[in-house]
Amino acid sequence: MTISKSDLKNKVIQEIEKSKDKIIGFAKDIAENAETGYREVKTAEKVKKIFSDLNLNFTDGHAITGVKSSPIAGKSSGPTIAVIGELDGLIVKDHPLADKKTDAVHACGHNCQLGSMIGVGLGLINSKANELLNGNVVLFAVPAEETIENEFRINLIDEGKLGFISGKQELIRLGSFDDIDAAMLSHATSKQSDGDLAVGGTSLGHLVKYVEFFGLASHAAGAPQDGINALKAANIAMMAMDSQRESFEDKDKVRVHGILTAGGTSVNSIPSIAKLEWRIRGRTIDVVNKINIKIDRSIKAGAMAMGAKVRIRSIAGNLPMLQNKHMNNIYLNNAENIVGKNNVVLHPDDQSGGSTDMGDLSQILPIIHPRSGGAEGTGHGNNYFIKDYEKSVITPAKAMATTIIDLLWPDDMQINEVINNHKPNYSISEYIALQNKRMGNDFNDYTS
Ligand SMILES: [Zn+2]
Ligand SMILES: [Zn+2]
Repeated sequence: MTISKSDLKNKVIQEIEKSKDKIIGFAKDIAENAETGYREVKTAEKVKKIFSDLNLNFTDGHAITGVKSSPIAGKSSGPTIAVIGELDGLIVKDHPLADKKTDAVHACGHNCQLGSMIGVGLGLINSKANELLNGNVVLFAVPAEETIENEFRINLIDEGKLGFISGKQELIRLGSFDDIDAAMLSHATSKQSDGDLAVGGTSLGHLVKYVEFFGLASHAAGAPQDGINALKAANIAMMAMDSQRESFEDKDKVRVHGILTAGGTSVNSIPSIAKLEWRIRGRTIDVVNKINIKIDRSIKAGAMAMGAKVRIRSIAGNLPMLQNKHMNNIYLNNAENIVGKNNVVLHPDDQSGGSTDMGDLSQILPIIHPRSGGAEGTGHGNNYFIKDYEKSVITPAKAMATTIIDLLWPDDMQINEVINNHKPNYSISEYIALQNKRMGNDFNDYTS
């Protein structure tokens, strides 16, 4: 019996629909157990459990907590497409759903990605659609997309447990993407302007700064003249960094922002240590490098003014995201079939915003990073909730699964065209060399 491509798509959509309570239940369970990057132990266990329910083998421990399914194999060998879900939550202290002990919460909706990833696998397996395709699908639950808790991660780097700071960067370095030819990830969105499903857009590149000012403690009232105030050095550095803003060019889409993570321990002692976690973002890595010179100068100015010492760690952050146009068009077409043309938004390439390590992956592989509606509030905010799990999880699962059918359908095998026409900016070894070059550890002593 032969089946048409569109009938097969309908069959997969029906299977996802049939199991939607299970898929949504899984996404909700992940949300109730949020963990931050490289600590997603319970979350990884839940992914392993559901892979086992689907009779999927897996390997674990990819970049500490990542879990990668064995291929959902096609009828003949062919390219391998990864469907990615990010394991990590954020820290938003005043979010009503934040974990009581850790303040971790899924305020970026990554739990929905894991749900959609399972939806795609379940749809292909239960409909046996994979048995008609030429190629494989891998479900890959990956750690640490959010670049947070940088002191913890830098310690892991110093201990040799990590090479790079975000999950996909590290997975690329370790070879976990070596057998993947293309990848997709659908991210939840609370922006009304994204409609039900949104396609396209870019993200900014970034550099992580971790700064430690070292002063000298003394009695804050009895002998302040004997101390060196590290907090004041940090204050001057923050003011100097802010003063650079008038020189930023609009076209470069620069964002410079950060937090003071240590600024003293007791009010009657001159603070001897102050720490900053800072971020420099821009349209390109060249822009980030250009701004980094001004930021380094500003940080040193703070230490110099107070006669303190300062260590500036620069950690290679995300690269800008380039989405594959051919894959985007296929996804767009399926999205329109699923939710109607009026509910799909196509973003231009010049759209800016945050950063993601899908950007890093996009520099070496063809990828897409569509978005799905259903969330409300502000991403990363205390009012971010998934209001409509069907829109956030089920709809994108259907759109991704049907896109995979187009890519691996034996009669046209659009994946081959995607791969043959894709010109990656870097090979994996070039990517690793580039990111290693962006690492810095600069110690300056202005005490004498
Ligand atoms: Zn986020
Ligand atoms: Zn996110």
